[in-house]
Amino acid sequence: MTEFNEVKIKRILNQTSIDLGEYVINPFMGCEFSCLYCYVRSNRVVARKNKPWGEYVDMRVNAPELLEREIASKKPKTVLLGSTTECFQPIERKYRISGKVLEILNKHKINYVILTRSPYILDYISLLKEGYCKNIYFTINKFSPGFKEIFEPKSPALEARDEAIARLLDESIPVIPYFSPIIPWISDLSGIFGRFEKAGSLEFECLNFNINNITEIINKIALFEPSLRDKYENMVKNRLFYAQTWRDIEKNIAEQAKNSKKSYNIYIHKFGDYFKNTYL
Ligand code: SF4
Repeated sequence: MTEFNEVKIKRILNQTSIDLGEYVINPFMGCEFSCLYCYVRSNRVVARKNKPWGEYVDMRVNAPELLEREIASKKPKTVLLGSTTECFQPIERKYRISGKVLEILNKHKINYVILTRSPYILDYISLLKEGYCKNIYFTINKFSPGFKEIFEPKSPALEARDEAIARLLDESIPVIPYFSPIIPWISDLSGIFGRFEKAGSLEFECLNFNINNITEIINKIALFEPSLRDKYENMVKNRLFYAQTWRDIEKNIAEQAKNSKKSYNIYIHKFGDYFKNTYL
């Protein structure tokens, strides 16, 4: 059961090293969706020690008031929304903190970029159409049956996310379908560019095998599909196998992009690269 708490914080605009904005805004701490591969699980600043990730959400109820004040002193030009939380998780429908944040950013003509996987963002179409939303990276995926329950048991249905992207694109709101993470031998990439006719480009992020809970992820996959254990263990241990696996996947994406006349970016994490979680 998710625990919800109203909290007051001291600061809402935080500087970030993510190159999508000078500052980040996270209207909540915690996330109801509880994705197994969420980077924030490994973040010592944001993830609580006494409660599993996905089982608490702090609603930062004074975020709008703070934002008004901090805009005056920090004068941000571009802000990123949702680096360590989901701004449009179900509790937002009750509190509308993210909605108020959008209103304030629009009022001050501040550009913003949003990271989301929630169709509830559609509640704010009129705000997103005011011209300051510069991009929405909308996370999608496609799994063989049964795997969604392992990786993202509480996140919105994958089909609903595709439909939300199509709706946003119909409204001429800039959206990049962000396929993340590609889980080798499980994520289904077939016909991926055809799923989003109006999207000019797609982005892909490969599963990061360096995150803190990779053993838990591999164990859960192997429990469901034992034949995959060797392959996944090789992805952690064998540099050549790791490189070849991602090369094959990128080749598949590149061919599909060429045939669809679309562009793409793919992020492949380095083998054995120490995981630095800087998503503050
Ligand atoms: S929706 Fe985003 S913030 Fe929430 S658990 Fe999933 S990856 Fe983490």
